Amino acid sequence: MLLAENLAAVQSRIAAACGRSGRDPAEVTLLAVSKNHPAEAVAEAVGLGLTAFGENRVQEAKAKIPLSPSRARWHFIGHLQSNKARDAAALFGTIESVDSLALAEELQKQAEKQAKTLKVLLEVNVSGESSKFGWVPDLLLESLGAVNALPRLELHGLMTIAPYATDAEKVRPVFRRLRELRDRCADHLGAPLPVLSMGMSGDLEVAIEEGSTIVRVGTALFGPRPKVVRGTAEE
Ligand SMILES: *Cc1c(COP(=O)(O)O)cnc(C)c1O
Repeated sequence: MLLAENLAAVQSRIAAACGRSGRDPAEVTLLAVSKNHPAEAVAEAVGLGLTAFGENRVQEAKAKIPLSPSRARWHFIGHLQSNKARDAAALFGTIESVDSLALAEELQKQAEKQAKTLKVLLEVNVSGESSKFGWVPDLLLESLGAVNALPRLELHGLMTIAPYATDAEKVRPVFRRLRELRDRCADHLGAPLPVLSMGMSGDLEVAIEEGSTIVRVGTALFGPRPKVVRGTAEE
């Protein structure tokens, strides 16, 4: 099966990067990014032992998650508008892309209503690309205490999307800066922030060498994404 082969290849890339950097592969979560792929692909991945899945659109997730095995755990990784916070809070256990205090407060409100706790990561725009969402690194410390004080949100760490590069080495400084920023944030809070979500299909090795604990992998697992967004293969 193609997915099984792809998974084995990704796992050996993760193991090799951990080997080079003296890390335990158990510290790195493989988040399978299932966006644009149907629930059947999620079911197949669950059958191969994957449990963490990433989606970047609330509407797509709303159709797909109920059709997927209940063992799957869902991370939201896209830009979240406040008017979708209610659905996102209901569907996802982790929101990796909290990019403003206003959004954090809205998620707090919705989680409170739903009597649940959400794990959150703060998305940082390390590279400063105008097309990207996320906190400006220098402004993150100012909001950190306020986010951390929200009782329904568990702040676990930081997330970034690196610029596209054909040579993954080029984005190493982006990953390194996210790790350094995480260290400063943890100092500021006086509490550990263990999670660093960074690295995708093309650059996961470099991200792991720089301390990533979640690699978000779509293409290298599921192949190229179909253009049409859908909940099932039949739709
Ligand atoms: C699509 C996506 C990924 C996966 O990208 P691939 O290059 O297909 O591995 C990772 N992170 C985010 C935020 C994404 O939107």
